[in-house]
Amino acid sequence: DIAIVWFRQDLRLNDNPALIRAAETGRILPVYILDDETAGPHRMGGASRWWLHHSLASLDKALGGGLQFFRGPADEVIDRLVERHAVSGVYWNRCYEPWRIQRDSAIKKVLTEKGVPVHSENGSLLWEPWQVLKGDGTPYRVFTPFFRKGCLQAAPPRRPLGAPPAFETVADAHSLTLEGLDLLPQIRWDRKLSPHWAAGEEGARERLRRFLDEGLDGYKEGRDFPARSNVSRLSPYLHFGEISPNQVWHSASAGPDNPDRDHFRSELGWREFSYSLLYHFPDLPDTNLQPSFSAFPWIEDIDALKAWQRGVTGIPIVDAGMRELWETGYMHNRVRMIVGSFLVKNLLQHWHSGERWFYDCLVDADLANNSAGWQWIAGCGADAAPYFRIFNPVTQGQKFDPGGAYTRRFVPELAALPDKFLFSPWEAPQPVLHEAGIRLGKDYPAPIVDLKTSRERALTAFQSMKARD
Ligand code: FAD
Repeated sequence: DIAIVWFRQDLRLNDNPALIRAAETGRILPVYILDDETAGPHRMGGASRWWLHHSLASLDKALGGGLQFFRGPADEVIDRLVERHAVSGVYWNRCYEPWRIQRDSAIKKVLTEKGVPVHSENGSLLWEPWQVLKGDGTPYRVFTPFFRKGCLQAAPPRRPLGAPPAFETVADAHSLTLEGLDLLPQIRWDRKLSPHWAAGEEGARERLRRFLDEGLDGYKEGRDFPARSNVSRLSPYLHFGEISPNQVWHSASAGPDNPDRDHFRSELGWREFSYSLLYHFPDLPDTNLQPSFSAFPWIEDIDALKAWQRGVTGIPIVDAGMRELWETGYMHNRVRMIVGSFLVKNLLQHWHSGERWFYDCLVDADLANNSAGWQWIAGCGADAAPYFRIFNPVTQGQKFDPGGAYTRRFVPELAALPDKFLFSPWEAPQPVLHEAGIRLGKDYPAPIVDLKTSRERALTAFQSMKARD
């Protein structure tokens, strides 16, 4: 008999509870199923697919070439596997996207009826969303009590489990090759992403090691500065489960407690919070958590949206962020907030248009974190930034990119502009622009909106929504 291990968002061998449990049986059929059909509108975007390709290649290598690849609705694939092999059990680590929960419960039901036991484990979260509830049994909507009271005062996150016992892998005659999943784009835009990342478990471990050596010290303050190396960039690895949050949490907690460690753990806590929101409010990706926002007068402006997507808004820190995303598949958290605020407030675009672009372009695109992040920035989420707090991209740039290293890196046409005007080139006197080799509107765009009037327009829109409430 063989145990099927269904890899999903746990593409690692170490600290993989489902794999460890299955390995105890000795013989494993390890599978990955690309299930776009069931995912529907939440099927992975382009950057995620690129990442996944490399992550699967790495996992396959770690399994000695034994990973079996399939495409199609997962229930059908599993059904056929169970018919073709003598299966003692199916093992997986739980996922929390509403469409996956629904699919997996249905599969579990069918398998159980057939007498094939299903073993589902927690390999992706520090605390299960159904375990962290308020005293009255309802879910938290505010982060601080969720984390401080709900999470930290419950049992501490379990320690990492280490490597699985030795096992033998079994193949299936109908497995595709990795290339058969067709994850890489036709037009090879992905080539620009490659130098920035090493997908897979080893890459994750190396990234964590570097963060512990170079980033953690000073994280609390430094995490807000996109040019500094204080953030971990572990988000895609955590999303695909190439490293577990438990491994990250406990490695970052080794040593005397200090505000940097504490703050880093609270960011892992934000990830738990997003997952808890998605679990308890499965409409999170689609519907404003604050219902009054259904009356918000968003506008449709394709040109403005396109300028934002391409990083040619004429607002340097916004353009730097959008180009970082396009070039690397990642954007620093501070800049995600700045570009998000600019899109939903200064440009009055619905947060969905930003959320969708991020979902397609981010290598860490994650239904829970992305939806929660956009609702937060739009002011309609749980524990959200109040709508009227509108980021000023000029002062944000001056404050968090002092010296301009980040902005100059991604908007090189402004490189020669003095710091004083780097974040507002439209304010630079003509001779200064000339000296820097910039013709505004030609070498670099003039701003597509006036920051002051667009801010006022956003506040008026918010007031009109309030009045209708
Ligand atoms: P670090 O600062 O090193 O933090 C460590 C880990 O903690 C991260 O890898 C991540 O898993 C978690 N984390 C940190 N900040 C947050 C946060 N605000 N919310 C939830 N988890 C957090 N994160 C995603 O993983 N996927 C997304 O699709 C995503 N979309 C976002 C969209 C918007 C509009 C905003 C404002 C934020 C979004 N985030 C998303 C959250 C955050 O920006 C990223 O998790 C973070 O920038 C990843 O970088 P890092 O690994 O270097 O973070």
